[in-house]
Amino acid sequence: MDAGLFGGTFNPIHNGHVGVIQYVKAHCALDTIILYPSALPPHKSNVNLASAQDRLSMVKGAVKHLNGFQVSDIELQRQGPSFTIDTISQFKSVFGNDTRFHLLLGSDAFFDTPSWKQARQIFGAVPMIVMQRGERTGMASYASFIDEHIAKGYKLKNDNIFVHDGLFPIRICNVPRIDISSTQIRNRIKSGKSISGLVPEYVETFIRTKDLYK
Ligand code: ATP
Repeated sequence: MDAGLFGGTFNPIHNGHVGVIQYVKAHCALDTIILYPSALPPHKSNVNLASAQDRLSMVKGAVKHLNGFQVSDIELQRQGPSFTIDTISQFKSVFGNDTRFHLLLGSDAFFDTPSWKQARQIFGAVPMIVMQRGERTGMASYASFIDEHIAKGYKLKNDNIFVHDGLFPIRICNVPRIDISSTQIRNRIKSGKSISGLVPEYVETFIRTKDLYK
């Protein structure tokens, strides 16, 4: 089985997340995508962070009517900050050898990976699927970024996949551009604006009922 791993703060999950993972599932031959909210995002200041349980509930509600998506609380169960390298190891030991994992990252998160714990080991642990976000970055820019900040020796194959002799491939996926962020959602709520159409209906109702992000 091929499974995508899609982690995030999901504070809250929005239609950008849901839209791009549906595209990736359909176009990257994945049997399932597992969404896992982070407990303590090591990279983000936790301004106005909804509780882990609320974020988990919103993620579950957002994908419950979609086929082939699962939600895991694996990072919420662990103590301390959530590091991706540990999460990948844990998923591998829980699912066993029959599952091939692929890590899904928005391009902003991908460009941040050099600052992550054991970054190079992550590229030695799983193939990556990078979902282009915002302005499109050309393959030449990806190539120089990978060469300078990830590892020497990656080569571009088939227009959008970087392959390496000792590390896993990095595939750049041209997902539909959906300019929504959780920050935008939280800011709109704070200033009394509607978030209708920007988050799944379940999430909109959940936020309103629980009075989140005010
Ligand atoms: P915030 O605005 O609070 O920083 P965010 O909208 O970036 O949040 P996260 O939960 O941090 O959402 O994102 C989880 C993952 O989803 C990251 O890999 C991020 O790059 C990706 N992602 C989020 N929104 C989009 C989008 N609109 N298009 C493509 N990828 C996205």
